[in-house]
Amino acid sequence: MFDEEAHGREFPLVFTASREAHDIFRLGQPLGIEMVSEELIGRMTLGVDSDAQAIQDFFVRMLRINAVNSRMAGPGERERADFLESFLKDNGFAVTRVDVEDSEAPGGIRPNLSAKLEGKDGKRNLWYISHMDTVPEGSRDLWKTDPFEPTIRDGKIFARGAEDNGQSLVASLFALLTLKKLEIPLSYNVGVWFVADEEFGSNYGIKQLLRRRLFKESDLVVVPDSGSPRGTDIEIAEKSLLWMKVTTKGKQVHASLPSKGLNAHRIGMRLAMEFDGTLNAKYRKRNKLFDYPVSSFEPTKKEANVGNVNTIPGLDVFYFDCRVLPVYSLDDVETDVKKTIKRFEKKYHATIKFEEIEKEPAGPSTAEDSEVAILLSRAVSKISRVKPRFVGIGGQTVGNLFRKEGIPTVVWSTVDDVPHEPNEYSRIANLINDTKVFAAAPLLGTS
Ligand SMILES: [Zn+2]
Repeated sequence: MFDEEAHGREFPLVFTASREAHDIFRLGQPLGIEMVSEELIGRMTLGVDSDAQAIQDFFVRMLRINAVNSRMAGPGERERADFLESFLKDNGFAVTRVDVEDSEAPGGIRPNLSAKLEGKDGKRNLWYISHMDTVPEGSRDLWKTDPFEPTIRDGKIFARGAEDNGQSLVASLFALLTLKKLEIPLSYNVGVWFVADEEFGSNYGIKQLLRRRLFKESDLVVVPDSGSPRGTDIEIAEKSLLWMKVTTKGKQVHASLPSKGLNAHRIGMRLAMEFDGTLNAKYRKRNKLFDYPVSSFEPTKKEANVGNVNTIPGLDVFYFDCRVLPVYSLDDVETDVKKTIKRFEKKYHATIKFEEIEKEPAGPSTAEDSEVAILLSRAVSKISRVKPRFVGIGGQTVGNLFRKEGIPTVVWSTVDDVPHEPNEYSRIANLINDTKVFAAAPLLGTS
């Protein structure tokens, strides 16, 4: 894991993201805060290392508790939440519990838990937010071990939910516990949230907590629910998502007499090609944070039309998957789409219907020089000894829900990226490393 190029003493850490970042992240500068941090970081890492076996054992115990989302035919989060709540209480934390009513869940509730340590500035919070629920195990035949009896092999713990999101949940919990045990002074509050229902839309989890105003714009939010194998990638931006369905109605006739009918398939194809050309041409700004650096407008699903070759189809249905850079508005895209549809209806005398299948605008990207991005970058370079880079993704995480509320949020963890797979696992080394990263961030300050 040691990245010599980034961390050798003689090389200043060159941060690629921006010039400000380069200045902020130079390590080894003889600043008072740096000296203080060194001592605190040393105590903290020793604390985590001496608890390593206990952390692992706790992780195994938690993974044994089936927490498959209750909307996915599982028992839900309740037993796991009770287990976590009593552990927090046993360790002297006051626990905030938000039970959201859900008549379909066993026991009628979906639990959400929080605990925190008070800092000097009691008005600000650094939150680590992970989810307790998991997806089902899927076909048991594909598992080499029992998905609910965690198995340790080759430094990995195999179980459903080990990576998604158990590793980060346990890492953030023990980061908090380590800070508490060492009585390390904090400049602001540091806390964890363990939430319900992330795997089925967060309607009984984060969305409820946001509605109840449990987070503030001044909060710093880390969502450790996605990541990269070396922990290099800090996600600060996501694209807006629009799935559209377009239905064209013409007139079905025998293929030998095309003039009697109206070929909906031909009009649909022309329309799809028109979208393909015009949308990709108009929304063409680039953002190098993203692996695919421009917006994408892709024709994807196509519904079957007639069952035989000699009939002219009277109905055509196609779909587009649009992933749009946060600099653009999805409403503008839709306006363009609807204008084009109007034009096509007039030109071809067909009826064309537009439907949104899914629409999720992205919140504003979290700034590279925001406090939470700086804190986490510092912690990652210090503990993981890799050169962090800021990235954007084409998918969406719950990080977007916070960004939409104007709360700067980063998504980060060290994982091999095997969520939802059979034989899902967490590397024990990553569990311990990320525990240290989460505990280090609040100690490293930003000034
Ligand atoms: Zn997850």
